[in-house]
Amino acid sequence: MIEITWLGHGTSKIRLESGEVMLFDPWTEGNPAYPKGHTFDRVDTMLISHGHFDHIHDAIPIATKFNPSRVVAIYETAYWLESKGVKNTLGINKGGSAMCGDVKVTMTHAIHSCGILDEGKIIYGGEAAGYVLTLPDGRVIYFAGDTNVFSDMALIQELYNPQLAFLPIGDLYTMGPHEAAKACRLIKAAKVIPMHFGTFPPLTGTPEQLAKNIEGSGAEVWKLEPGKPVQW
Ligand SMILES: [Zn+2]
Repeated sequence: MIEITWLGHGTSKIRLESGEVMLFDPWTEGNPAYPKGHTFDRVDTMLISHGHFDHIHDAIPIATKFNPSRVVAIYETAYWLESKGVKNTLGINKGGSAMCGDVKVTMTHAIHSCGILDEGKIIYGGEAAGYVLTLPDGRVIYFAGDTNVFSDMALIQELYNPQLAFLPIGDLYTMGPHEAAKACRLIKAAKVIPMHFGTFPPLTGTPEQLAKNIEGSGAEVWKLEPGKPVQW
């Protein structure tokens, strides 16, 4: 079993059976959905889907504090993080895989933008991405990052067959429940963890809307509470 904790918005952490912690898209400071009182005890792998502030805001301080063994991002964003003093960056690109401890991490496509806000200017951060994690026991997780639905999600299903998917559903900056329902049907994961909703009032998509839209598909919406760990 692994332990999954959604930390609000696009931020999640996974504690592996080995005890190692993988942290996705850290936004803690100023994240209205970040659970009060939550603390990290370790971070072994940090995974960044793209360079927007709500996904990398706390990457630098957390990397400085916990010195993860790898900080994975698309090449340009990884280079930027390295330029800010982050150690052990691992810049990869779509279709590429890297072993992060005993988990195989594969970068996938995402339909989103990826500018990095740096001292009042937006600089090029490469492209937004998602990740497929293949656990040592063979189970597969798809972390979509911020994205719209795209038909090549069917390729992600064919190639990796994820059983669990993290999908954004909030609308406005990402797909909403209507598009996310199509994503569920393409990815065919048994369980879907909704994210990137409810953080601010304009992110209007809800897990209940998604659940209604995927009735009969065989997929289950797994609504997590920020800061409350679940086992999978
Ligand atoms: Zn975002």
